[in-house]
Amino acid sequence: MTRVARPGTGPTMIRRRLRLRDMPMILMYHSVASVGADPNSLCVTPDRFAEQMAWLDRNGLRGVSVGTLLARMRAGRARGLVGITFDDGYQAIMETALPELSSRGFSATVFVISGLIGGTNRWDEGPSWPLVTADQVRVLAAAGFEIGSHSVSHPRLADLPADRLHAEVAGSRADLRALSGADVRGFAYPYGSMDAAARAAVRKAGFDYACAVQTSWADLGLWALPRVYIGQRDTAARLAGKRLLNRGRIALRGARS
Ligand SMILES: [Zn+2]
Repeated sequence: MTRVARPGTGPTMIRRRLRLRDMPMILMYHSVASVGADPNSLCVTPDRFAEQMAWLDRNGLRGVSVGTLLARMRAGRARGLVGITFDDGYQAIMETALPELSSRGFSATVFVISGLIGGTNRWDEGPSWPLVTADQVRVLAAAGFEIGSHSVSHPRLADLPADRLHAEVAGSRADLRALSGADVRGFAYPYGSMDAAARAAVRKAGFDYACAVQTSWADLGLWALPRVYIGQRDTAARLAGKRLLNRGRIALRGARS
């Protein structure tokens, strides 16, 4: 009997294997900050974030970057790991999330917008918040956080013309590699917006994986990893519920989309 299933044989193997029952829980955050107005529900206060991380700790779970999570899945050693992600790269996380995670020995992936380094979330209607600077990207990388790409300018990638798609995906990877001095293996679709062309562009640009938000059954895999939104209302009790329902929710939404 021949089986070509060695651990660590790269993304292809894991894509083949990535079934619903193997699907890990990946938390999606944007910012951790106390702000006045948050119409798009992007922030979790530092106290709430600490409560959520303490809940993981109490339950024997460890927060890691998505890159680490996938590597551990390939090795068959992902039990007890939960992916933690931050989209957009808000500066606030430097003072809030980073110390909270580091103090627990946790890590995370920060998906940065390469064309808006040191800029603001100008694509959003709502309050303007600063995004990480080049120095802060390097600080995050040095602290063991995975730097992923969140495109060059935060457009919706579905239906984007091919040349712009290429520039947004491959261009951001090259820029972030140069900036962070590290390889950039992960991508997160802005607004969770993607189609087959976007997934192909991410694969062709050399990324190992891409995070979506919701994923249809057909798309579920390394190029469309579903994540669970975590917000200010997510107390420890609600997190426990979200953990229990994680696979059921992926299945339900996958069937609907
Ligand atoms: Zn975003």
